[in-house]
Amino acid sequence: MGQLSDRINRLAASATFAMAQKSAELSAKGVDVVNMSVGEPDFNTPDYVKQAAKKAIDDNFSRYSPVPGYLSLRKAIVEKLKKENNLSYTESQILVSTGAKQAICNALMALVGQGDEVILPSPCWVSYPEMVKMADGTPVVIKSTIQQDFKISAEQLEAAITPKTKAVMLCSPSNPTGSVYTKEELASLAAVIAKHPDIYVISDEIYEHINFIGEHYSLAQFPEIFDRVIVVNGVSKAYAMTGWRIGFIAGAEWIIKACNKLQGQYTSGTCSVAQKAAEAAFLGPQDDVEAMRKVFQRRRDLIVDLARKVPGFEVNNPQGAFYLFPKIDSYFGKKYQDRTINTAEDLAMFLLEVGHVATVGGTAFGSPECIRFSYATSDDKIREAFKRVTSALELLK
Ligand code: PMP
Ligand code: GLU
Repeated sequence: MGQLSDRINRLAASATFAMAQKSAELSAKGVDVVNMSVGEPDFNTPDYVKQAAKKAIDDNFSRYSPVPGYLSLRKAIVEKLKKENNLSYTESQILVSTGAKQAICNALMALVGQGDEVILPSPCWVSYPEMVKMADGTPVVIKSTIQQDFKISAEQLEAAITPKTKAVMLCSPSNPTGSVYTKEELASLAAVIAKHPDIYVISDEIYEHINFIGEHYSLAQFPEIFDRVIVVNGVSKAYAMTGWRIGFIAGAEWIIKACNKLQGQYTSGTCSVAQKAAEAAFLGPQDDVEAMRKVFQRRRDLIVDLARKVPGFEVNNPQGAFYLFPKIDSYFGKKYQDRTINTAEDLAMFLLEVGHVATVGGTAFGSPECIRFSYATSDDKIREAFKRVTSALELLK
């Protein structure tokens, strides 16, 4: 085998997809696994969205799309941001990409260079530190604990800022903790950022609509920092469209132009048919989004109740997204047959191989004392999973 680049060698593989694959491999061997690893809605894409995609195929939307996305889609996004978030953008301040994943990567690649620091409130999504490293930047992690409901304070943010800080990434509602920053908490973070005019914010709002405390707030809503906030969003979570691969950023035109240049060399405009589907999603009736949100809230109540009954689990009450991130380190040092549980990953593997429940260990999210359950699955499966988890954990002595 030849020599790979340093860039690829220092990159960690996605822990979420790795666990999803392990779960699929076990299922393929005939084992009945409850998969709570990867985070994606278990619902189908709404019918009106599917119809729009079928029509787009018949209407021959089959050629290269403009690099930043169809104008009609960008108009629909401008309208969405105005109506739902009270944010004013023009179409030239929007760039549509292959999922929010590429949208975030574009923004980091455009802004961050060698030696630049990017602040990551942690626990955070597994891909953030890796994306920062791909952009040659240095991730600077601010740790938050379950006692803080996994949210950082303004003081912690201030203390992490150095002359090398280029950007702060914030995800609310959060993957993996489900925490949602209140308007007041965001205001205190915005006040810190306002004092540092060279710092940019990447505000990942992909779970915007899966929020159990009411209205969604964005850091972009604070006028003193609006120009320096890049809003990231998409259709994957709200409209159950993970496979369609449509995400976007909204931000200052010079940043969008830079991302457009990058995307023009890297992927071109994203899938034409998926863009027409996303346009329909944004412009259509939003009843499905609310219906799915309600189901997620009911499941949140169920999983929190079940997880609180598991001996040795410490559980917060997530206010959004579809993840539970219990603290499980009370099991460290315990044994079953020839296994010893030393890490969250050991516990996740034990739960998969012995309990047949797939989760993700917390280390890749920056919390080696936690594991993540995705509850984007049916109530019955959640109940079954916790029966299995409880029985499996009883084996650990
Ligand atoms: N941000 C967060 C926090 C996520 O959990 C995800 C889900 N994979 C994404 C961004 C990317 O979403 P997508 O690329 O599917 O739009
Ligand atoms: N965001 C989801 C998760 O965290 C999907 C997988 C991924 O993109 O990491 O499980």
